[in-house]
Amino acid sequence: MYDIVIIGAGPAGLTAAVYALREKKKIVILEKETIGGKITSSSNVENYPGFKSISGMDLANNLYEQVINLGGKIKIEEVVKIEEGKIKKVITDENEYEAKSIIIASGSKYKKLGLENEEDLIGNGISFCTVCDGAFYKDKIVCVIGGGNSAIINAVYLSQICQKVYLIVRKENLKGDKLVINSLEHKENIEIIYNANVIKYITENDELTGVLIKQEKNEEKIEVDGVFLAIGQIPEIDYTNNLINLNTEKYIISNEDCKTNIKGIFVAGDVREKKVRQLTTAVSDGTIAALNALNYLKEEI
Ligand SMILES: Cc1cc2nc3c(=O)[nH]c(=O)nc-3n(C[C@H](O)[C@H](O)[C@H](O)COP(=O)(O)OP(=O)(O)OC[C@H]3O[C@@H](n4cnc5c(N)ncnc54)[C@H](O)[C@@H]3O)c2cc1C
Repeated sequence: MYDIVIIGAGPAGLTAAVYALREKKKIVILEKETIGGKITSSSNVENYPGFKSISGMDLANNLYEQVINLGGKIKIEEVVKIEEGKIKKVITDENEYEAKSIIIASGSKYKKLGLENEEDLIGNGISFCTVCDGAFYKDKIVCVIGGGNSAIINAVYLSQICQKVYLIVRKENLKGDKLVINSLEHKENIEIIYNANVIKYITENDELTGVLIKQEKNEEKIEVDGVFLAIGQIPEIDYTNNLINLNTEKYIISNEDCKTNIKGIFVAGDVREKKVRQLTTAVSDGTIAALNALNYLKEEI
């Protein structure tokens, strides 16, 4: 029986583990893919306090070592179901774990276009996060792919840093809120291309140099130094099976206290309903979720 089972070994889950282990709790962290989470695919992080510049992999390794030094155990197993009760169950593709409390930190996946080279270019020409990577494209030419609020917000943000921003929209109009769309006014260096599908990433010596777009029958090459994908995220919640309350976009609902609708189940990081999804907000959630789980163990179990 574990005091806390943590689902996901990204920055949120590993931070929660640090807090729980320092209180000598019996915990296990379950990770289905990559220890360290999404940040491992970033070649350079410049907005994590305390590090002027660090690769996502090094940051993840540091966190991993910190958890292991404190006696933490990470198992590579995919959680497929959780069950509530005073003693909760976490069922994976290999095992079943009993837990007094659970911290859900399973993150989200960015939607991709599914084109050739895409995986290799992520973190190296293709980005999902303007706040994280916008500064790398100072005075350069970039494109943002998407037509909703985040695509527009990203394009406006990048227009203050970059020489030129193409906003490539699949449909014939933008899908964002009126106020957000209005923010595009007078942004002379943003060019919106409607009814366009990106069909290829163009590279030279493995470096991204442009995208090929298709409008009806016409194909055109647009030269860019960077691509920002803003076509949505998919929260990793399949295993929660309607047990946990979700918002309309399928993020787990909770307040800043990181409590879910189920007593003893907490949520942290990108999988939680919130406006800002960054490393700093993920580790902040991990801290809060762990401290609230520790309180729960003290007061309710
Ligand atoms: C290329 C790239 C660059 C980025 N750059 C920056 C940056 O410079 N600065 C910044 O602040 N942020 C950056 N981000 C965003 C940052 O990585 C995320 O905000 C952060 O990783 C969120 O942490 P998390 O722990 O909530 O989720 P994640 O990192 O998504 O980790 C969740 C973990 O849970 C695991 N998981 C999911 N489902 C299950 C399951 N069923 N069973 C077991 N495990 C499961 C996943 O495999 C994953 O490892 C970047 C993201 C990417 C992709």
